[in-house]
Amino acid sequence: MEDLIKKVAREIVDAERIVALTGAGISVESGIAPFRGKGGLWEKYDPEEYAHIVTFRKNPERSWIMLKEMLDVILAAKPNPAHKSLARLEEIGKLRCIITQNVDSLHQEAGSKDVIEFHGNNRWLVCMECRKKYRADKPVEEIPPRCECGGVLKPDAVFFGEPIPVDALYRSQEESEKCDVMLVIGTSGVVQPAASMPSIAKRSGARIVEINPEPTMITPIADYFLQGSAAKILPRIVEEVETLLGEKHGS
Ligand code: NAD
Ligand code: ZN
Repeated sequence: MEDLIKKVAREIVDAERIVALTGAGISVESGIAPFRGKGGLWEKYDPEEYAHIVTFRKNPERSWIMLKEMLDVILAAKPNPAHKSLARLEEIGKLRCIITQNVDSLHQEAGSKDVIEFHGNNRWLVCMECRKKYRADKPVEEIPPRCECGGVLKPDAVFFGEPIPVDALYRSQEESEKCDVMLVIGTSGVVQPAASMPSIAKRSGARIVEINPEPTMITPIADYFLQGSAAKILPRIVEEVETLLGEKHGS
């Protein structure tokens, strides 16, 4: 592992454009359970049902039982060392942007500036009738929460059955094509179209670095597979990158 970390750090130091693709796994150590894994909320509720736009329209009260629990968990969560390491990498000019599937805003909270949110976020609630937005910065009390116009409020995240925001999609594809290293962290690679970003990067000649405790759909195309937790491995990589950069500048 130490050897792999050193090789990956060297790739990052030598690369011009580095992009990260992150999924639910990077927030596991912040206390937010992923969809496909043991424990937490998602074993109780099938997200493809509760967070499906058709189900939500038909019965918002029922969907909000799950959504409230999820929002409360996210509100209480804090960025972990993996989020902070990516913010640091951006700060030292070694990360161009993060493409994330997460809706928890922990990258921004950790200090990352350029975050492409593929699936929107839960910082806002939006009215299904008049589209007015409300900040979701405190726990919802009554469910479903309502707009002053009487319409039902929905988290401003992309639900199953809803399209990906086009700006986010285009920019992600472009960044994936142009990068020379892609860090793929904590994503199972099954939810499309986010899952196709590593293949786009690979086809354009980028090196793929994957960090995950388990092999995934992406592992077969990874040049480096670092098996383990992002909160442990990423800080080590960044530490090594900073050492190498220090040596480079010092010489
Ligand atoms: P996923 O649930 O499909 O997969 C999570 C991956 O993270 C798995 O491969 C797992 O092995 C890995 N993982 C678990 N612990 C880890 C750790 N400590 N370090 C690194 N990796 C770890 O997640 P996904 O691929 O992101 O797709 C699920 C969808 O669910 C996304 O579209 C996302 O919008 C949504 N979601 C978001 C959140 C969030 O915002 N935090 C949480 C759950 C689900
Ligand atoms: Zn309204």
